[in-house]
Amino acid sequence: MSGARYHRKGEAPRASAAMSRQLDLLIAEPETSLIGLRVKLDRPVDRGKPCRRNICVIGPAKGPHAGVLNCIDCGAHRGWMRKSTAAWLEDVMVRFGLPTEPIVIRDATYPETAPLGADAA
Ligand SMILES: [Zn+2]
Repeated sequence: MSGARYHRKGEAPRASAAMSRQLDLLIAEPETSLIGLRVKLDRPVDRGKPCRRNICVIGPAKGPHAGVLNCIDCGAHRGWMRKSTAAWLEDVMVRFGLPTEPIVIRDATYPETAPLGADAA
């Protein structure tokens, strides 16, 4: 007398593949959308020592800067763009879209606050 029962094994329930989905935690740096954007520099130094038309293109930068500013006419290094300036530029583009002409930057590179109000000319 054999009361043994045959029980099939080997069909464990599959784990849902959706449970192992990956989250993209990469956060875009503020400067990424500004690369290639043209801006017009109107800092005091640009008025004193202009370079051609004072129009620069924003390039990628490392470290504490948000971007590098290079003259579109001669390629000269014209300064570094502050992250606060980059954030301001992005805000402008969010509000008004891509600019049809270069946005004027007045304080792109100075670590100190330039007293722009003193300009009486
Ligand atoms: Zn130049």
